[in-house]
This record gives sequence, C-alpha cells and structure tokens, in this order.
Amino acid sequence: MQSIDTAGAVLRIDLDALVENYRTIQRQVAPATVAGVVKADGYGLGANLVARSLIGAGCRHFFVAHLSEAMALRPILSDGMALFILNGLQPGAEGECAAIGAIPVLNSLDQIGRWARTARTLERTLPAALQVDSGMSRLGLPPEEVAILLAQRERLEGVDLRLLMSHLACADDPDAPSNAMQRRKFDAFSMNFPGVPRSLDNSGGSFLPADHFDIVRAGIALYGGAPQGERREMRPVVSLDARIIQLRNIPAGAAVGYGLTHRCERPTQIATIALGYADGWPRHLSNGGSAYIDGHRAPIAGRVSMDSITLDVTDVPDVLLYPGALVELLGPHQTVDQVAADAGTIAYEILTQLGHRYHRSVRGGRDPAQAEHHAMKVAI
Ligand SMILES: *Cc1c(COP(=O)(O)O)cnc(C)c1O
Repeated sequence: MQSIDTAGAVLRIDLDALVENYRTIQRQVAPATVAGVVKADGYGLGANLVARSLIGAGCRHFFVAHLSEAMALRPILSDGMALFILNGLQPGAEGECAAIGAIPVLNSLDQIGRWARTARTLERTLPAALQVDSGMSRLGLPPEEVAILLAQRERLEGVDLRLLMSHLACADDPDAPSNAMQRRKFDAFSMNFPGVPRSLDNSGGSFLPADHFDIVRAGIALYGGAPQGERREMRPVVSLDARIIQLRNIPAGAAVGYGLTHRCERPTQIATIALGYADGWPRHLSNGGSAYIDGHRAPIAGRVSMDSITLDVTDVPDVLLYPGALVELLGPHQTVDQVAADAGTIAYEILTQLGHRYHRSVRGGRDPAQAEHHAMKVAI
C-alpha cells in the first residue's frame, strides 16, 4: 500500500461510525438481533476489518455471498459465531462448506438433497438456513418446491435448520405494497417450522414499521449508505480524497479530455486529480459529477479517464489550488448516495467498486481487549 504522502488518493474508513450504525439498527429492531452482511469484501471496505469491529460491538452472525468469502472470514470468527453463505450450496462445494462449519443458505430442493446426502456421508447433522422465495423470483425455494418439501419432510433428514429466511424486493421503498405481501408469505411459510429463528429484513427492511423477526441482515446501512434514500441517513463510514496532480489555465473555446466533450465557455482553470475509473470512480460521472475543495464545488469537466479526472476549479479560491492538495470525492460535502445518484446508480455499487490503489487509513474500532489494555496503561 502506498504511503499517505505519495498516494494519489486517500480512503479513510471510520470504524467508530460503522459501529454506531450497527447500534442504531440494533436499537431500531430490538428484540431482533442484527447480523453483519460482509459480502463483496465488506462492501469494498475490507471484510475482516469490518467483521472485527462488529464482533467488538457484539455481532455474532455474519453473511457472505460465496464459499470463498466464508473461507477467508472463518479464521477470525470464534466457534459460536454463525457464518451464512447467501448464494447457497454450489455442486462440489459440500465438503469444504462442511469442513469450515459454514452454514449454507439452501435455496432449492437440489441443494437440500445434496446437503442431506453430505450429512449422511459424514454421519453427523449439518447446519443450514432455508430460504423461500416470497416474491422476488431470485433465490430461494419457489412455491412448487415448498409444496414438495412440506409433503416430504424426510428430505431434511440430517439437516439442522438454524434459520428460515427470505428477501425483500422493495425494502428501500416503505410505500411498496410488496413489502407487506412478502412479509405475510414468509410468515405463513415459517409456521411450518415452529421454533426455527427467522430472518427477512435487510437494511431497508429494518426501517419498515413491522415485526423484524429474529435476525436482521444489515449491509449497506452499516457502511453509511442511506437504506431508504433521504428518509434515513446513517453516519458516513467512508471518505475519499484525491490529490491535484496538475493545474492549467485554458482560454475560452478550448476543450478538455478524451473526445473533447467539454468545451469551455470562459477562460477556465482545470485541475487534474489522481483518481479515475480504474479506482472505481464511475465513468458515468463524465461531465456530470462533482468534487469539493474545502467546501467549494468543482464540477467534473470532460470524461473520467482511467487514472485521472479533470475538474473545473475556476470558482475555487487560488490559495486552495496547488499540486498535492487534497480534493474531496466522498466526505462532508458529498455522500456516497449523492455520488451514486449523479452516476445513475446506487451506493452499493459505488462502495463495492472502490479501488485498490488508494492509501487506506482506518480510524477507530479498537477491539475491547485492546481498549482495556490501553485503559490500564493510562491508569498506570
Ligand atoms: C446483500 C444482502 C443483504 C444485505 O442487504 P442491504 O440492503 O445491504 O442491507 C441481505 N440479505 C440478502 C439476501 C442479501 O443478498
């Protein structure tokens, strides 16, 4: 990793804000428990980093999408913690999944069959979550497979059901009628398995006025994305600044960047900053997005290049403009949701695309044991 002084851009991760978001959701959904969704490398922030902080805050349930993500995370979890694999049980993955003690989310009769066979082969029960499709038509048992399963419950022999789950299609929209419909369907399905813990809500769902069942699967809200748009703001967790690498003054009529798509109507000062689409900054922000320099807005002029972006800094005070100066891409003046809106996408995509050339600096999130150690040292 580059040092903070020489890196083109600096990504700061505030683990105290992450933990605060976790607690906010926890308060919101109590007595349900909040699980941490740390798939896609913790939404781009670093799965192990995030998981350690959440463990420090009391989190004991984690969700990833892939077996490979589960294998990478398992070593930092203790035995009592639950690690779920959302994408289910891929053919051929049964042995490894059982070996690391991960809990696959079984999404079809085929997956149930293979997991039950693996249990027989290993001569022990294997833990699983069972997902039902309550209307999103993505993952989970479709209605016809549910009917077969309920008629042939022996298919679950050897499977230790730890969780029933389903997923909301429109949790980010509190007015969507599908939310209540899916909740009713899931509730009805779960009556067939009394006593098994239930999970329906993601971040958006955790803010719906409804019963949150036993476990809420929180992702984006932990990471500072607004789970229901402007209605719900979380503490920002990520900030991103890039350095000015060059400045130039160009006359009216001159054009900027690939394709010469931005033509200046006035004499213009252009700052080129060291961050581009290879760093996860959407090319869709060409002639669209903004950056901020000490609170002054600097619109993107021209196309986003692979390694650099050109900003119109004509209206920014000169004292703030020099090679090496840091320009805010994410921070107090621009949230990840605003950048996403400018780029025609969602905060999830901005975060998970964050690049790997940044200097990454982490604030807060000391684990409790270390904090205690620190407190003792201070006391002495
Ligand atoms: C990604 C995912 C989540 C987390 O969703 P957020 O909107 O980020 O809170 C929860 N459940 C499932 C099934 C998911 O795929």
